[in-house]
Amino acid sequence: MDRFDVIVLGGGLLGSSVAMHLAARGVKSIAVLDVDLGGRYSSSELNAGGVRATWRSEMNVALSLASIEFYESVRDEVGFDQKGYLWMYEQARWPGAIEAMEWQNRTHGLGVLALTPDEIHAHCPVIDQLDGVAGATFSPRDGLLNPNLVKELYRARARAAASVRFENYAYVVAVDPEPDKVIVRALKFQEFSPAGDQAIKAILCDAMPPEDAAAVKLTADVVVNCTGAWARRVAPLYGHVVPVRPVRRQIAIAHARDVDLRPWGMFVDPSGVYFHRESTHILAGWADPDEPDEFRFKYDGEHWFEEKIWPALAARMSRCASMKHRSGWSGLYEYTPDLCGVIGFAPGHDRVIEAFGFTGRGAMQSWAAGRAAAELVTARRFETLDCTPLRPTRFAEGKLVPETLSI
Ligand SMILES: Cc1cc2nc3c(=O)[nH]c(=O)nc-3n(C[C@H](O)[C@H](O)[C@H](O)COP(=O)(O)OP(=O)(O)OC[C@H]3O[C@@H](n4cnc5c(N)ncnc54)[C@H](O)[C@@H]3O)c2cc1C
Repeated sequence: MDRFDVIVLGGGLLGSSVAMHLAARGVKSIAVLDVDLGGRYSSSELNAGGVRATWRSEMNVALSLASIEFYESVRDEVGFDQKGYLWMYEQARWPGAIEAMEWQNRTHGLGVLALTPDEIHAHCPVIDQLDGVAGATFSPRDGLLNPNLVKELYRARARAAASVRFENYAYVVAVDPEPDKVIVRALKFQEFSPAGDQAIKAILCDAMPPEDAAAVKLTADVVVNCTGAWARRVAPLYGHVVPVRPVRRQIAIAHARDVDLRPWGMFVDPSGVYFHRESTHILAGWADPDEPDEFRFKYDGEHWFEEKIWPALAARMSRCASMKHRSGWSGLYEYTPDLCGVIGFAPGHDRVIEAFGFTGRGAMQSWAAGRAAAELVTARRFETLDCTPLRPTRFAEGKLVPETLSI
């Protein structure tokens, strides 16, 4: 039986960040277990790469801002393209946006600007149809990054500082906390037998155990659950039923002649469609409010693009009147009741820590969230940023984190 100081469940951005921070804090032996460390169905590999400190709640601003400071320090390594968020509003929501902006500037000095429709066009001439747009906020410290590069940086730093075993093709099926340790049982399988990608998909979508797997047993002083949308399945293994909902979110890649958005960062349209450059193409996404809670990854393709994305882009940019759908994908959002992440000890456990449920902000907040979870492991309290508002018990207590600036 292998014994570790800490076992991290899930090796996405959160799990990799936790491992890095644990290693930096002197934890000697760490295991990171994942069904697929490559993360082909993980949210960390399927997101839009947006990074912003422009939130409405203190907690979200603080987590994002601390992470942004880190991304600024490794800008080239993680492809941090700090060209701002341009967030457009219709009249009904514009006064609230101004109020939020004033709060962000007053309390955090974010330097957010309010732009009139003419100023939006001057900032980005390709946006030339502003009917129904009352104004936009432009936040220059925000931007885009490459989540895969961030994840690999976390892992490399973890490996450089400690003995970290990144255990691939390990499906965690039991987590048993005991007074002096936590026992974790996993099924180890081979990627290409018997069914390769299909086996991984069956595990992650249908909770179908892999065939021909070897049962392995590991122990640790502490376990950190970073299984993202799968926390809904993994937390009950140690007796915690969590209100995390897996919800499919789709992203389309399209091309319009003479539209090159590389000089800018993220755009958010009043329709809810967000978009940014993807090389010389456009990446665009939209949250369908009717999407059911489900572990599913089917991308609806060209007809979804034409129905949901193209009308918004064409209404905002005349050059998008004619454009070509190229590809797309879907990944899982991990919705919590207040759409904010969870960091804290699992209720009733002092050896199990939870760090999941970041609902569309897990990439941008992963550095600071991982640090907070690592502090709980080693110091048993938050040392740099008080993340108590994100405790897992807040939902049952009715103490939700108020956040209104979610996309
Ligand atoms: C379409 C889309 C767009 C997004 N856009 C943004 C954005 O612009 N900016 C932003 O900050 N965030 C964005 N997000 C959210 C962000 O991607 C997530 O919040 C973040 O990646 C969560 O990271 P994680 O490590 O918690 O989870 P994941 O990356 O999902 O990692 C969880 C891991 O746990 C593993 N796992 C699950 N169950 C088990 C088990 N039983 N045993 C072993 N391993 C297991 C999985 O294989 C997976 O690798 C977006 C998400 C989507 C889907």
